[in-house]
Amino acid sequence: MSKQQLFEAMTTAEPTFADIAKDIWEHPQLGYSELYASDLQQRTLRDAGFHVTANIGEIKTAFVAECGSGAPIIGILGEFDALPGLSQAVSPTLQPIDEHAPGHGCGHNLLGTAGVEAVIALKAYMDEHNITGTLRYYGCSAEELLSGKTFMARAGVFDDLDIVYTWHPGTFNMTTNLAMQALSSVEFFFHGRTAHAAAAPHLGRSALDAVELTNVGANYLREHVPDGSRIHYQITNGGLAPNVVPDNASVLYFLRGKNRTEVDDLLRRLHLVAEGAAMMTETSVTVEIKAGCYDTLPNMTLNEVMYANAQLLPDIAYTAEEQTFAEVLQQNIEPSVVAGSKASMAQMGFVEAADLAQGFQHIPQMFRMPMPGSSDIGDISWITPMGQIMTTCAPSAVQLHTWQATASFGSSIGMKGMHYAAKIMAGAVLDSFTDSTIIQQAREEFDRNRAGITFKPAIPDDVQPPKPVVS
Ligand SMILES: [Zn+2]
Repeated sequence: MSKQQLFEAMTTAEPTFADIAKDIWEHPQLGYSELYASDLQQRTLRDAGFHVTANIGEIKTAFVAECGSGAPIIGILGEFDALPGLSQAVSPTLQPIDEHAPGHGCGHNLLGTAGVEAVIALKAYMDEHNITGTLRYYGCSAEELLSGKTFMARAGVFDDLDIVYTWHPGTFNMTTNLAMQALSSVEFFFHGRTAHAAAAPHLGRSALDAVELTNVGANYLREHVPDGSRIHYQITNGGLAPNVVPDNASVLYFLRGKNRTEVDDLLRRLHLVAEGAAMMTETSVTVEIKAGCYDTLPNMTLNEVMYANAQLLPDIAYTAEEQTFAEVLQQNIEPSVVAGSKASMAQMGFVEAADLAQGFQHIPQMFRMPMPGSSDIGDISWITPMGQIMTTCAPSAVQLHTWQATASFGSSIGMKGMHYAAKIMAGAVLDSFTDSTIIQQAREEFDRNRAGITFKPAIPDDVQPPKPVVS
C-alpha cells in the first residue's frame, strides 16, 4: 500500500525529470567532458537536500550525492555521456541536428536521470516515514570510454556500499542476468627515425611499419585465444606524409574476454607482439593502458527484487503517435535486422514481439550467459552486489549506438521507459531498506559467485583520468 504512495508521487513528478533528460539529450557531451549534464544533476540533487561530493577520482564530472545516515548503505548508478557523430533529431527518418556533433545513442541521458528521479522520490518518502539508512546516487562519467567507474572505484567510493542498483535503456523490459565481457584498452606508441622516403629510405626507421607488424601479429594471435575473445584496433597515428618515413605512429587496441584473467593474459601476449614489432623495425615502443574493466557479475537476488517491483506496475501504455513513430523508424532499419530481432524477442516470450515491447521478462536460465560488449559497471559488480534491469526506451530492433537510438532516447518513448525504470529501482531500494534479508541474501550470493576474487582496478596507479575537452 505505502509503496503505491511512492509510485504515485513519482508519477506526479515525471514531467520534471522528462525535462531534465531532454535537456541532457539536447546538450550531448562526450565522456569526461559531460559538464552540462553533471552540473544539472548536481544542482537538482543539492536543491532536493542531497549532500554532493564532486570531482571523484580526479574526474571533473564524476560525483556522489548522499542523504540519510548509518546502515545500510544503498546506491543507484547513473551515467550521462554521449557518443561521437550520433547527432539526430527526434525523427523516425535520418535527420542529424549537427552532422558531426555527438548524440545520446546509448540513452545515458535517460540512464542517469532515472537514478536522480528515483533517489529524490526515495528521500522524500524516507524522511516522511522515518526510514533509516544511507542513500546514494553515483554520477558516473565516461561509461562509453569504459573507464569512468574504474577511476571512481580506485578512489574507493563504492567500497562501503551494501548493494547497488542500476539499469540501461533498451528495446524490451527485463532483468539483466547477463555477463558482459571484461575489457582492456591499450595504446602502443612506436618511435623511429624520419628520412626522405625516396632519397634515403635506408636511413629511416618506420614507426608505421611497427604498427602494421603489430597488427599482423595480433591477427595471427586471434587463432590461438580462448573462444569468445575479441581483438579490435584503430590506427590513431599513421604518420604525416607518404614521402616522410614516420618517426611516430600509434595503434589503439580493445581486448575483450570472458573474465579479467583472460583479458590480462591477452594483454600480456599483445605486449610481446608489439615488442617483437619494435625489434623487427629497430623502433621503440611505449605503452599506455587507457581502460580496464571487469566482466559483469549479475546478482539474481537483487534482480528478483527488481522483477517483483515491475510486477506491481502497470505496463507502459503507448499513444497512436508513438506506435507510428516506432513503425516508421523500423522501416529505416535493414529488414533482416528487424526480423531477426523480433524472432529472438518472440522466443524470449515478449508479447507478440511488438514494435514497442511491453510486459517484463525475468529469464533465470540466462543467468551469467555471456553477452558481447563491455561496461565499466562490471567493476562495481565485483565490489558490491549489483541488480540491473533494462526497459523499453526504443522500438524493437533498434540497435544501441545508432541514429535510430538517439531519436528514440529523445522521444516520449524513451521518457516512458525511464520513468518505469526509476519506479522499479525506487521500489527495489525501498524494499532493501525495509527488509534486511534482501541485503543478507544478495551478499551471500555475491560471496559465493565471486569465489574469492577481490576487485583490483585494471588501470595502473599512475594513469590519471583525462581532463574535460571544452569546445
Ligand atoms: Zn550505454
